[in-house]
Amino acid sequence: MLRKWRANIRKVEPYIPGEQPKGEKIIKLNTNENPYGPSPMIRQVQEDPENLRLYPDPAAEDLVNAIAAYHGVDRDQVFVGVGSDDVLAMAFLTFFNSWKPILFPDITYSFYNVWAELFRIPYKRPELAQDFRIRPKDYYQENGGVVFPNPNAPTGICEDLDFIRDILDHNTDVIVIIDEAYIDFGGRSALELLPQYENLLIVRTFSKSRSMAGLRIGYAIGNPELIRAIQDVKYSFNSYTMNRPSLLLGTVSLKDEAYFKETIDKIISTRTWFEREMKHLGFSFPDSQANFIFATHEKIPARDIFEAAKAAGIYVRHFSQYRIDNYLRITIGTDAQMKALLSFLETYISEWERR
Ligand SMILES: *Cc1c(COP(=O)(O)O)cnc(C)c1O
Repeated sequence: MLRKWRANIRKVEPYIPGEQPKGEKIIKLNTNENPYGPSPMIRQVQEDPENLRLYPDPAAEDLVNAIAAYHGVDRDQVFVGVGSDDVLAMAFLTFFNSWKPILFPDITYSFYNVWAELFRIPYKRPELAQDFRIRPKDYYQENGGVVFPNPNAPTGICEDLDFIRDILDHNTDVIVIIDEAYIDFGGRSALELLPQYENLLIVRTFSKSRSMAGLRIGYAIGNPELIRAIQDVKYSFNSYTMNRPSLLLGTVSLKDEAYFKETIDKIISTRTWFEREMKHLGFSFPDSQANFIFATHEKIPARDIFEAAKAAGIYVRHFSQYRIDNYLRITIGTDAQMKALLSFLETYISEWERR
């Protein structure tokens, strides 16, 4: 039956997050979570359940102050939200209001095109080069804004500050958003460019390097005018986005720099070792500055490896997308987890070769 009301239902193709399988024995290397957990300091604090009857501080003042102090910026340069997904969505809504298309790479975080569609923002996706690098010249054309992650996801490739500066110099009339979800794993942050570029917005998250994906904490840093604008949009949508436990625990986590550094260093050294082992097994991948590698095998289709690993209880990520469907994005877990994956791959590859 033709129901007339159907004509007015919004149809969107949603972003599909990686699976969150249940089960104890599973090795989960599919959503770039950090295996070490948040700072143990957060075990010593707890939100008083009595306070949960109260709305949280809409300005998230304590967390904002802690983030500002941590990065050495003013508090009116900081905006916080429910994970960087929320921050990015608010930023798209606030800053991308031109008829001209916004620009982001064809291979990148797959939420960008979902928000662009949802908010009816025109967009263009210039192709990455053959080696998966962003071609700066693609971003010299007229546009309504620019956004990309650095390091890029899912490639793991990080560009240097000269590259970012070049993009900014060619895009002085629009807002340029650099999504630094993975910057703590080895890249150089664009934070130091903020004084020179009033149109630069940097987005960060506690989900990856701070191992707090479950709390949903993200933030943006930029000039106070941009921050005021994004706050106005947020308060027009839902003023109490950050919950009390997240505000408290996020603030505490910033105090434990030693633990933060230690776990990041562990992940980086596991990555270095794991990359070497993967090369021996016939995999190749771009040099990663993130907590994952983006690997393809010289003989075996990625999809087959993905399915077989999953059947063995090891979850990695595979994207059925043009140009990258023969790649696996593998999160760097603990040494033990990566050893288990390597030994699975060794067996799988040798059986495959005997077939
Ligand atoms: C993980 C990720 C995010 C979102 O992280 P949140 O958990 O929402 O903070 C944003 N951008 C990129 C590139 C990511 O990989």
